[in-house]
Amino acid sequence: MPAESTILLATLFVIAAAAGWAFARFTDTRQRQSDAAQLSADYYRGLNYLLNQKPDEALEVFMRMMELDDEAIETHLLLGSLFRRRGEVERAIRIHENIIARANLTTLQNDQAKFALGEDYLKAGLFDRAEEFFEQLADSETHSIDALEGLVNIYEQEHEWLRAIQVRQRLEKLLTPDGSDVIPHYYCELAEEALRRKEFDEAKQFLKRARSGRRRTARGAMMRGDIAREVGDCQLALKLYERTVKQDPELLSEILPRARSCLDSSASDKGQEFSRLLKGWLADNPGIRKELAYASIVNGLTDVPVVDDAVLQYLRQSESLSVLFSAAMAEGQAETPDAIRRLHQALHKLSKRSAHYRCRDCGFSSATLYWQCPSCKSWDTIRPIGYLRIEALRESA
Ligand SMILES: [Zn+2]
Repeated sequence: MPAESTILLATLFVIAAAAGWAFARFTDTRQRQSDAAQLSADYYRGLNYLLNQKPDEALEVFMRMMELDDEAIETHLLLGSLFRRRGEVERAIRIHENIIARANLTTLQNDQAKFALGEDYLKAGLFDRAEEFFEQLADSETHSIDALEGLVNIYEQEHEWLRAIQVRQRLEKLLTPDGSDVIPHYYCELAEEALRRKEFDEAKQFLKRARSGRRRTARGAMMRGDIAREVGDCQLALKLYERTVKQDPELLSEILPRARSCLDSSASDKGQEFSRLLKGWLADNPGIRKELAYASIVNGLTDVPVVDDAVLQYLRQSESLSVLFSAAMAEGQAETPDAIRRLHQALHKLSKRSAHYRCRDCGFSSATLYWQCPSCKSWDTIRPIGYLRIEALRESA
C-alpha cells in the first residue's frame, strides 16, 4: 500500500501538471510552450519515481517543476508543513531550505520560510538550530510573537528558566493579555531546583521574585511552606499551608500530607494537634469540606475523626458511591466511628485504582500533580479530579 506521503505527492503532481497544461493552452508564445513541454517531461519522471516507491526523488522533481512564482512558494510552504505534521521532518527541512536558497524572496516569504525551518528543527529536537532561526525573527515585523513563543517552548523544554523569563518579558510587551501568569511558575521552578540542592536562601529569593509586582500564587505559598518545614519552622509552615488552602482549596490533596508530616516531626500529641489544625481550617473556611474529604480519602488519612463527617457527607452526595456502599450505609450503620473508618478505608482503596489529577484544558490525567501539563504544556491547569471513578473498580475487577 502506498504511504500517505506518496499519495500526497501524487496529488500535487496532478495539480502541478494541470496548471502547466492550462498554462500552455492559454498562451501562444514558443518559449511558454517549451516550458510546458519540460513540465510534462518532469511530470512523467516524477510519476515514475512515485510508482517505484521513491518519494524523495519524486519530491526533488516536484520542487523543480514548481520553480517558482509566488503561488508556488505558498504551495511549498504548505507541503513542508504537511510533512512536518506527519513527522517527516527531514523532507520538511529540504523543502524549506530550498525556499530560503532562492534569490528575490520578499521579506515576508523569507520570514515564513525561516519560521517554518525553526519549527522543523524544534520538532526534530534540534533545539540549537531552532533557536537560531527563532532568534533571527524575534524582532521581525511579521513573526516576532510566533518566534518568541517558539523560544519559550525551547527554554521550557530545556528547563532554562531564566532565559524563559527574559523571553516572556519580551512577549509581555507585545501581547494582551500577557504571559505574566506563567513567569511566577518559572521562578517557582528555579526555587524548586534550589530546594533540591538545599539552598534555602536562594530558593526564598526566587520565590520573592515570583511575587514581586505580580499576583501571588498558591504554588508560591505552598513552596514557602515547604522551605519553612525543611528548616524546622513548623509554625510558619502551617501558616503558609493554610494560606495556600485559602487561595486554592483543591490543593488540599497536596497540603494535607505536608501539614501532617510537619506535625509528625514537631508535636508531641501529633494526632490531636492535626485534628485541632483541621478543625480550625474548617471553621475558618467552611466551603472546603468537599475538598477536605477528597484529600483525606486519596491520602488515606482514615484515623482523623475530625474529617469523618466530611467523608460521610461526600459519600452521600455521590449517587454512584451511595449505590456502591448502600449495604454498609443502610439503617444508620455508617454513623459509628468504626463504620465510617471502614468506609473511609474502602474509599481510599478505590481511589488508588484511578488517576487523581486532570488537566482542565486537555483532559490529560496523572497520578501526581504537574504544574505544567505534559500533554498540552499549559501552566497551572492540572488539579485533583475531586471524585472517585466507579468504573475503575469495574475495570480492575
Ligand atoms: Zn493539558
